[in-house]
Amino acid sequence: MSFEKLALAQPLLQALSEAGYTTPTPIQEQAIPEVLAGRDLMASAQTGTGKTAAFILPALQRLATDVRPNCRGPRVLVLAPTRELAQQVTDAATRYGKHLRAKVVSILGGMPYPLQNKLLSRPIDIMVATPGRLIDHLERGRIDLSRLEILILDEADRMLDMGFLEAVEQICAATPASRQTLMFSATFEGTVARLAQRLLKDPKRLQMTSQHVKHENIEQRLHCVDDLSHKNRLLAHLLSDTELKQAIVFTATKRDADTLADNLYAQGHSAAALHGDMAQGARNRTLTRLRGGAIRVLVATDVAARGIDVAGITHVINYDLPKFAEDYVHRIGRTGRAGASGIAVSFASPRDWANLKRIEHFTGQDISRHVIPGLEPKTTLRPDAASSRKRHGQGADSRFGAGKGGRSSSGSGGRRERGLPSGGTGRPGGAGFGARRGPSR
Ligand code: AMP
Repeated sequence: MSFEKLALAQPLLQALSEAGYTTPTPIQEQAIPEVLAGRDLMASAQTGTGKTAAFILPALQRLATDVRPNCRGPRVLVLAPTRELAQQVTDAATRYGKHLRAKVVSILGGMPYPLQNKLLSRPIDIMVATPGRLIDHLERGRIDLSRLEILILDEADRMLDMGFLEAVEQICAATPASRQTLMFSATFEGTVARLAQRLLKDPKRLQMTSQHVKHENIEQRLHCVDDLSHKNRLLAHLLSDTELKQAIVFTATKRDADTLADNLYAQGHSAAALHGDMAQGARNRTLTRLRGGAIRVLVATDVAARGIDVAGITHVINYDLPKFAEDYVHRIGRTGRAGASGIAVSFASPRDWANLKRIEHFTGQDISRHVIPGLEPKTTLRPDAASSRKRHGQGADSRFGAGKGGRSSSGSGGRRERGLPSGGTGRPGGAGFGARRGPSR
């Protein structure tokens, strides 16, 4: 199947060929004809499947084939949970729409209002927004959604997780009932399913879950870790590899991201943190430096790293395993971008056994165990090791208290006794990172 067979307009085919894309991905192959036919869509598709182009290309096609006079309100609105993801969607829309001269605007939290007001006073074809800031402008009467033709909810489950349900409903209520609605979400259960029922009309359902996304170009490795000092020695070993060009290291909390980045920087690595507590300007600067190669090691939390699309990322390191299995898929998808190969390394202590099993079940793949000579673990990853440690109230990595687990059991995963050795040297193999109570991601 080629993009020509999808009957896309010539300016789009040209942009795709310039991007080096020859074949549509499965989600593109299945979604594009449905959306072009005007159908609502309810798609389970992870990042890395090419889902952005699957919704942006047919939206651009509509702009190309049904030209309307310039107007202030957008014809297409994409809602995304985070600024980073919204930025990626904006970049994709601009890239694929460049020969159409599509007017793409992003309305994100953290941007100065006067600049946004100016953008909003001009004609707009496609608006990409985070819900909070869009609501601000809607309530001030600065955005007119009355001529909206296509509404796209990207990573809807994440938007609801972040508390945007009311905002999303308010935004939808301001759009015409005649609109076409496309909803992308890792899952369609509970609140997301109910929202889909309210917003979508006879949607086409597409399922592109883990069985379709094997991340075959990403080698996944697992290291069993005994304790924090062992973890830091393994991290130092991985970072000393010259094959590692750029890496994203994931921590469980924002404060851990800051501390680990500081410690790595102090050890001479070009390292920086990225998390949701940082001002938008600082986040953008960090991402620009990452793209330009000035940062080799980015230490990040899940929410902040969503949607990062940097071709140079050769390694993803799960310093802490994610709490939710789908976050594992999002994390490892930061490497192996655009057909390149990548390596995803996870650290797990016996305490992480149940979590690890959930991830392996979700992806349908076992993560292969690796041991580095000289850095062999003393413990093994087995269910009995984990449960016996739990029974005796001692974990190999004592930062994690009880309740580390799936979406339903663990809550926001925030305030747990950290029990880290304080006043560490900050060196791998040294005492590690200071004792603290961790805020949420
Ligand atoms: P997404 O799932 O939308 O985050 O896209 C994942 C990555 O795949 C991005 O780097 C896209 O630029 C790239 N991509 C999207 N569609 C294609 C395609 N048809 N062929 C090759 N790469 C693609």
